[in-house]
Amino acid sequence: MTRLVLASNNAKKLKELDAILAPLGWQLIPQGELGVPEAEEPHVTFVENALAKARHAARLTGLPALADDSGLCVAALGGAPGVQSARYAGEPKSDARNNEKLLAALAPHADRSAHFVSVIVFVRHADDPQPLIAEGEWHGEIVADARGGGGFGYDPLFFVPEFGQTAAELDAAVKNAVSHRAQALQSLVARFARGA
Ligand code: IMP
Repeated sequence: MTRLVLASNNAKKLKELDAILAPLGWQLIPQGELGVPEAEEPHVTFVENALAKARHAARLTGLPALADDSGLCVAALGGAPGVQSARYAGEPKSDARNNEKLLAALAPHADRSAHFVSVIVFVRHADDPQPLIAEGEWHGEIVADARGGGGFGYDPLFFVPEFGQTAAELDAAVKNAVSHRAQALQSLVARFARGA
């Protein structure tokens, strides 16, 4: 097994990624176990933030590193909340306040289209000149009233036309198979399969 540091301490992400990468011979270690503090995410794009997190983890551990960054982009709001998705309504982070703020911001707009984005970056080492970058997008619309008890974040407001349900109403297994994160992961795995 080749050791790989995950630039996140999110147990759900670790489990999801581990299930896919372990069969490919990668052993994922969350950065917290190696004493790596969270990196700053000061950039205005997902890819820059994911790259910063991966580099930080690789630099501090000497191991190859994987990082992801994700969020919701709403067309009528010029892509907001974007990289600010987790903290759209400020500190402390609150999904409920983020959702309220999003509905208020969208109220004057007829165009309710939005998409989730997930960017996953792999670096072989901190100065890797050619990181692997995998992206996924999941398109839908923002509904006026929250629906469903599953998922997290903006899921209760994110209506997926192909299923006729919000992401929070979808079966978790379905969401995990079709979401922006799933698509980015599939793309990453395809890249690994071609040789990382
Ligand atoms: P992070 O990349 O884990 O920091 O996620 C950024 C933020 O984007 C989350 O806190 C959520 O607000 C939002 N987000 C990302 N992915 C999803 C999703 O699958 N459902 C709902 N919200 C999401």
